[in-house]
Amino acid sequence: MYEFPIQRAATLKDKPDPKTLVFGKVFTDHMFLLNYDAGQGWHDGRIVPYGDLNLPPSAMVFHYAQEVFEGMKAYRRPDGKVQLFRPMDNVRRLNDSCERLCIPQLPEDLALEGIRALVKVEQDWVPSEPGTSLYIRPFIIATDASLGVHASHSYLFCVICCPVGAYYAEGINPVRIYVENEDVRAVRGGTGYTKCGGNYAASIRAGERAEEQGYAQVLWLDGVERKYIEEVGSMNVMFKVDGAIVTPKLTGSVLPGITRRSCLQLLRDWGYPVEERLVTAQELFDAADAGKLDEAWGTGTAAVVSPIGEMGWNERKAEVNGGVIGPVTQKLYDTLTGIQWGTQPDPYGWTMPV
Ligand code: PMP
Repeated sequence: MYEFPIQRAATLKDKPDPKTLVFGKVFTDHMFLLNYDAGQGWHDGRIVPYGDLNLPPSAMVFHYAQEVFEGMKAYRRPDGKVQLFRPMDNVRRLNDSCERLCIPQLPEDLALEGIRALVKVEQDWVPSEPGTSLYIRPFIIATDASLGVHASHSYLFCVICCPVGAYYAEGINPVRIYVENEDVRAVRGGTGYTKCGGNYAASIRAGERAEEQGYAQVLWLDGVERKYIEEVGSMNVMFKVDGAIVTPKLTGSVLPGITRRSCLQLLRDWGYPVEERLVTAQELFDAADAGKLDEAWGTGTAAVVSPIGEMGWNERKAEVNGGVIGPVTQKLYDTLTGIQWGTQPDPYGWTMPV
């Protein structure tokens, strides 16, 4: 068990109305900090008032983007208790990202206990209206005050939280997505399987282009052959084609999503044939033309499951399930959100009380 010193904020902020919450704009009263220094390891875990970080302009993170992050949520159960969803999976993925970015490994229990301790302090910030949650953003930055491309010797692990409103406050509406032919998000051998800021910086331009054309998200292709589907926006993607569930396999350029992993487990347990393999854009648009693209959806912590109603690729268009949410998409959404918010049993042991 870890005990972290808590420095309480002198004044607490007013909690925003969950009905009008905009994602990522309002942060809670406290944050968790943990330092790394060469020779000392990770040390001085503590909870302090939420506030600015004081860093020199030469801090390495600003120049070479040695940085990793995570995204996870705390959910208010009907009995009032607060729970996390597969939080150790986030900690392990954070460490996988660290390994790729040459950031020292975090002791898993220390990281998890830091996150839990912060959520416990901030538990009044976890909203209780349907579909709302507390988003948790752990991240690590390289803090050496030095230019020169090499691994930093000092780091800061920080966790901040923000309350989020219901993603589908106006009902689940399938989104239009656009196959991106020019920009790529990540390549094999690169950092696609990690959550490092650089991946997201590289994705912004295509996202803006898709939005200009009236699409909600980008469907990314692989960076070499520009043939294989990888992800949709910042979600993993799944298709139901002629009765089977098909999803891009984890080749190194795809983020191993925790929602993806959870959906695949549910689908297998429900008896669906599940194929994790290379999936071409061509076969999906051909399947749509042949009336065999039954359903398509994205998976991720933010939306849980996001149905896709239409796909565009150059001049080609593919409508999915008449533009309405399909039965498998709906069942996944209902089951996962039921487990996350504690309105139905958790036979997998995926949830953890704070
Ligand atoms: N792909 C990318 C690029 C993402 O940023 C995310 C969000 N973390 C996902 C997929 C979905 O991952 P998860 O289900 O763990 O939220």
